[in-house]
Amino acid sequence: MRLIFATNNNHKLNEIKAILPNMYRNVVFSLGDLNISVNPDENGSSYEENANIKSYACYFALRDKNLLLIGDYIIADDSGLSIDYLNGEPGIHSARFLGDIPQIEKNIRIIDLLKDVNDSKRTAHFITKLSVLEICTQKYLINRPESMIFEGRVDGYIAKNIIGEDGFGYDPIFAIGDTSDIAKRCVKTYSLLGQDKKNLISHRALALKAFTNYLEKKMNF
Ligand code: IMP
Repeated sequence: MRLIFATNNNHKLNEIKAILPNMYRNVVFSLGDLNISVNPDENGSSYEENANIKSYACYFALRDKNLLLIGDYIIADDSGLSIDYLNGEPGIHSARFLGDIPQIEKNIRIIDLLKDVNDSKRTAHFITKLSVLEICTQKYLINRPESMIFEGRVDGYIAKNIIGEDGFGYDPIFAIGDTSDIAKRCVKTYSLLGQDKKNLISHRALALKAFTNYLEKKMNF
């Protein structure tokens, strides 16, 4: 079995390796490990569509180079942060939101956009959708399989300041738990949790858990 992750992002790959149970870690491959490179336009209108665009681009690149094997799983994820007060934005635009400015500035802008918003209206959630292509029979070496979609979601809210230094992206402004924690002064952003704790509860961890549950069920049959 090989778990081939359709990503060029080393930070993401390391996070995925840290999340997966030990038994899978040495069957994880990145695009770089297999000497292929894919950079499709993520122009879908949903997380599922974007995850599928990435997994199928990887499938065709591997197939064209005769690198597909029975037992391969080709996996792509698409994630994002939806802020209720901003009508679900940045959502699928999370990577490109507010254009080409440093992430810290994006986080400061979001805090600013929400500066007059009541605690109870600061709700937000992170979502990951995993698109998984299972190469379980000979025919999928030639014809693409249907994708399976696994999901992870974490509900929380937007903190009132940047809190914590760990992680990446929106980690320092996304807090887990309930908005009533703001008044109790116990706001726990993903950054403040630190990588190890984040990896136990994050949206990406929940989606990967749903996938490994599927693998385990399959192995027990
Ligand atoms: P991707 O689809 O996983 O590449 O995520 C798209 C964008 O969402 C990233 O560029 C980040 O800005 C944001 N994002 C996704 N996952 C996380 C996370 O775990 N923490 C913080 N930001 C994230």
